[in-house]
Amino acid sequence: MTLRILVVGAGISGLATARGLRVAGFRPDVVEELPATTVPGAGIFLPGNASRALRQLGLDAPLRPLGDLIFRQVFLDAEGGELFEIDLAALWAGVGESRALSRGDLQQVLLTSVGGEVRYDTAVRDLEIVDGAAKVEFGDGVLAEYDLVIAADGRRSMIRTGAGLGGPAIPTGQIVYRSVVTGGPPLSDWICLLGRRSQFVVMPMGGRRLYVHADESVEPEAVNPADPRARMRELFADFAGPVPAVLAALEKVQVARTDEVVLDGWAKGPVLLVGDAAHATAPTLAQGAAMALEDAVVLGEVLKATPDDVPAALRAFEQRRQDRCTQVREHTRERDQTRDVPPALRDPMLRRRGQRIFADQYRGLVEPF
Ligand SMILES: Cc1cc2nc3c(=O)[nH]c(=O)nc-3n(C[C@H](O)[C@H](O)[C@H](O)COP(=O)(O)OP(=O)(O)OC[C@H]3O[C@@H](n4cnc5c(N)ncnc54)[C@H](O)[C@@H]3O)c2cc1C
Repeated sequence: MTLRILVVGAGISGLATARGLRVAGFRPDVVEELPATTVPGAGIFLPGNASRALRQLGLDAPLRPLGDLIFRQVFLDAEGGELFEIDLAALWAGVGESRALSRGDLQQVLLTSVGGEVRYDTAVRDLEIVDGAAKVEFGDGVLAEYDLVIAADGRRSMIRTGAGLGGPAIPTGQIVYRSVVTGGPPLSDWICLLGRRSQFVVMPMGGRRLYVHADESVEPEAVNPADPRARMRELFADFAGPVPAVLAALEKVQVARTDEVVLDGWAKGPVLLVGDAAHATAPTLAQGAAMALEDAVVLGEVLKATPDDVPAALRAFEQRRQDRCTQVREHTRERDQTRDVPPALRDPMLRRRGQRIFADQYRGLVEPF
């Protein structure tokens, strides 16, 4: 039997899932509610396990010329004094390279790899499970029936709620500021300056550009600043190291809030959640894309193994993915809690033990999935 599969969402997770399914021999439909002209603006950091998953999806060749390879993560205090550093090449040896690149470029590689049409401007408006199949209504009123619906519709997933798999995402209390800077200082490392309930991360992302990702912890009732660039300049005004030169070159700044999605299960009948819809976390470990890419590899494998028994394949998917995604969430929370310890206590501790603590948070992800 040829499985009728719908992938909802054409972000990193949806496109990678479509690729994983194609590699496994399936021909999914893919829909995306946004227009095809929407191009994500920021950069993205992909650690070694993301590269491994991209390689397993057969995408290492198109990725190779893109962005900049990153060999070291350097952690500094707000005055620019070194706390510790992580040798990424050693940490991810035998797994894959760590790379920073434009999100638009990554999106294009994934889109080209899908090998079939992505129907843009097409939202899933409603989903009903009837006799083990999923009846889907699209925004234009068209109805269709599928044997399997993969919800890659992001942390605010409408399908998660519609299928009764979980409620809204939980805000983490972080505001994130992102920018792509040209004309900043020449940098070759991923550099993070830790402040008081805030951090400033900057890295090269190819084409002599820098990707800047900064965040602050806020109270739940806090609203996003009206002028994010002014807020960034105010927040990091006293920071040293490369920060003053980066702030001077800063132009457009995007502001976002981050959320967590914590669920007991990801599958119900013929519906499966993947990517942020299933397991979003704050982006502190930069594992969101990696987890979405790994999901895509595993989903292709389990469906190929039991194409005639979708529920068994979805159970196998959950078994292979849940511990790993829980591990990412727990280490993300630990990292954020450490970040928010007052610097007078935190910084001496990180000078002594930061390298071991932070490298250990990735150790489990070095293992195959
Ligand atoms: C500020 C920030 C910084 C980050 N930085 C990093 C990083 O450096 N490295 C990293 O690995 N990860 C990072 N992440 C996380 C990473 O971006 C995500 O984990 C990853 O992109 C996977 O997202 P997704 O595809 O599951 O969801 P999304 O990117 O949210 O995609 C969901 C898609 O579904 C579409 N959609 C939604 N509802 C419907 C519907 N009803 N019908 C049709 N289409 C629909 C949406 O339009 C969207 O295109 C960051 C996240 C944030 C918020």
